[in-house]
Amino acid sequence: MTSVIMAVVKAVHGHEGEVARLVKVTHVEYVEGDVERGATLLLGIEGLAVERVVLQDCGSRVAHVSTADEAAAACPSCGVISTSVKGHAITAPQDIPYGQAPVQLVWRKRRWRSREQACPRGSFTESLPAVPARARVTTRLRRECGAGIADRFSCVLTGAQHYRISWPVAHRAYTAHVEKALAAPLPRVCVLGIDETRRGKIRWDQDLVTGRTSTAAPPPKSPNGCWHNRIGGAPGSRM
Ligand SMILES: [Zn+2]
Repeated sequence: MTSVIMAVVKAVHGHEGEVARLVKVTHVEYVEGDVERGATLLLGIEGLAVERVVLQDCGSRVAHVSTADEAAAACPSCGVISTSVKGHAITAPQDIPYGQAPVQLVWRKRRWRSREQACPRGSFTESLPAVPARARVTTRLRRECGAGIADRFSCVLTGAQHYRISWPVAHRAYTAHVEKALAAPLPRVCVLGIDETRRGKIRWDQDLVTGRTSTAAPPPKSPNGCWHNRIGGAPGSRM
């Protein structure tokens, strides 16, 4: 944690040190690598390092990133880390919004050969938990989009438009988010009610003294405190 804080201090002020009070910065001198490290910290995708950021005429920013995780060179089939580069591939996974203008990731990743004789896979491209193989969006975008559709957005289309992704991708993110909740066992039903609806024919009782009529009393409570075999509201409610 300290190293992260110190890196941020270095990226902002141009030198390492403890920030004890507000100071007026009159001259900021960057050393080689500071800007890239600061940009990598701002991006915050584990396993990806920002090489450079290009500002386009339309105002959007293109962040060129490279792999910064040795585990990405592990073969997905045999697990052996490869050291034989076969080539490169470029992907552009969509990420969560950052600022007002869009940010587009361009990831130049390596294609490795799997040298293990028993491995059925000849080659593979790098992948990360943050950006799985063949994924068109980052893991954090998929997670945020799914949760957003479930909790904030009115529909799948609104979530897709907010994150600038297609409807099918947003829908898959939503179903992945609710899958766990749907798979969990339902809580025990103690009372089953129907709002704004009454089931069965109403029964009336007449007070022989006053002549006033009222609905019949609810059935007696069961020993465990529940109103089994009764569809309606809480005890004493009108049936
Ligand atoms: Zn392999």
